[in-house]
Order: sequence, then C-alpha cells, then structure tokens
Amino acid sequence: MGGSALLVRDLSVGYGPVRALRQVSLEVPEGAVVAVLGSNGAGKSTLLRAVCRTLSFHGGAVTGGTVSLGGRPLDRLPPERVVAAGVSQVPEGRRVFARMTVADNLRAGALGGSGGRAERARALRRVHDLFPVLADRAQQRAGLLSGGEQQMLAVGRALMGSPKVLLLDEPSLGLAPLMAARIADTVREINEQGTSVLLVEQNAALALRLASRAYVLEVGEVTLSGPADTLAASDEVRRRYLGVTDEDAAADVSRAGGLPALSRWKG
Ligand code: ATP
Repeated sequence: MGGSALLVRDLSVGYGPVRALRQVSLEVPEGAVVAVLGSNGAGKSTLLRAVCRTLSFHGGAVTGGTVSLGGRPLDRLPPERVVAAGVSQVPEGRRVFARMTVADNLRAGALGGSGGRAERARALRRVHDLFPVLADRAQQRAGLLSGGEQQMLAVGRALMGSPKVLLLDEPSLGLAPLMAARIADTVREINEQGTSVLLVEQNAALALRLASRAYVLEVGEVTLSGPADTLAASDEVRRRYLGVTDEDAAADVSRAGGLPALSRWKG
C-alpha cells in the first residue's frame, strides 16, 4: 500500500437549497476497501455522485471542497474523464441495459476506459474469471438475468474500464443473504487483485467485514470514522447499524470475559 488512491477534502454539496453534504473528508488508501455507512438520506449516494462528477444530472452541485485521485484533482473533469482517469461506479439498483446482451453491456463498460484493445481483452478475461455466468450467458439479454446476476453484470461492466478505484453503491441491496455474501466475496477478490474500493452500504455488518476502515455519515456529516474492527466494536455502531440490542451486548460481554465479542459478524 502506498499513498491515497482517493482523497475527499471538506466536500460540501447542495441540491438547490438542500444541503446534502457538509465538509465531508475521507480517504481511500491505495489497495484498501473503505466503507461508508449511513441510513437513508445520509448522503451516501450524493458522495459517490460528487466523486464521479454526475451531480448535475440530479440537480446538485459541489459548493466546497475537493476530490482527488492519486493526487490529481477531479474537480473540473466531466464524468467521462473521471472514468478515464480511473474511477468507475456501480450505481445503486444494479442498472444494466436490460435490452442489450450481456456481452454488449460489458462492451459498453469498456467505452469510458482509457485502455486499448489488449487492455479491454484483459479486463474481459478478468470479468469472466470472476463471474463465469457472464461468459455462459454472453448472448442473452441482460434483462433476463436474475437480480444477483444483474448485480454481477453491473460490477463486471464497471471493471471493464480497468479502474484504479471502484465505487460501489449498496451492492447487497435487495439480494438474498447468500447472493449478498457471494458479491461480498467477489469484492474482496477484486480488491486482492489490486483495485481500491469505496463501498457505500446500509448493510453495516457486510461492509465492516470487507473494509479495513469505515466512516459513518449522518445527515450529510461524518460523525464517526476509524478502523472497521474498532467501529464494529463501538456501542453506537452496534446499536444503530448492527442491530445489536443491549441484551445481546451484555451477553457478548459476559461470554468474552468483559470485552465486546466481534465474532458474531466476523465469522
Ligand atoms: P439512500 O440510502 O436512501 O439512497 P443516501 O444516504 O444515499 O440515502 P442521498 O440519496 O445522497 O442519501 O440523499 C442525501 C440528501 O439529499 C437527502 O436529504 C435527499 O433527500 C437529498 N437528495 C438526494 N437527491 C436529491 C435530488 N436529486 N434533489 C434534491 N434532493 C436530493
């Protein structure tokens, strides 16, 4: 691991009069998985839109702060140049092109990348290795895939641009637990192959298992941040985001001889 892959400093965002982010700062170190937790409306999607420079499509604008990738400011780039610079997003709701084939969806993902033909072929091999089903069903329309398979396609499409940093917006949303766990395993594998990941999740248990560091966003502000295992052990995160009741916590403490046990969501 070297320096920062992605650095967000004092970022503020508004949608007209609505202030959606206030002076948010966070860092994704090179080679890391970093999670942003927060409930509905906390500003998680807004943060990703600001990084990808797509806020204007939603009527929003950055009102202060900076975003940089490997030391290079992204602040004035159009969205397609952000992709070419090395940031790809998997949007919430696994938006795939339903009428296009799986293969054409993946081809579309390569359009924004900066690589040549050899790089695209390498990216496609990587995607097929990660998700063999996308090779098996290459000629089928994407709309015929299951929800989990569409999520794989959405991740695969983002990887076709060979990003340095992958942004994931709630990849587990609406998926059965087994499929969510498979997607989590794949995110880990993608990261082990050298791609840094910024993961936005309401599923805190899953996010804290994957990430080395996490930030809690509440009503547009970072209220907590730190190593993922420290956050997972904090009473506030346990109660608010992991659904641990006071009785559960008390039982954990007595089982662990006074220390909060983390094994339940680490196992
Ligand atoms: P969720 O988990 O529900 O997707 P979130 O954490 O991603 O929530 P955002 O969607 O970023 O939250 O919303 C942050 C704030 O900005 C909310 O108050 C929301 O109502 C507001 N907001 C989001 N998109 C728009 C928009 N296009 N126009 C106006 N306000 C918006």
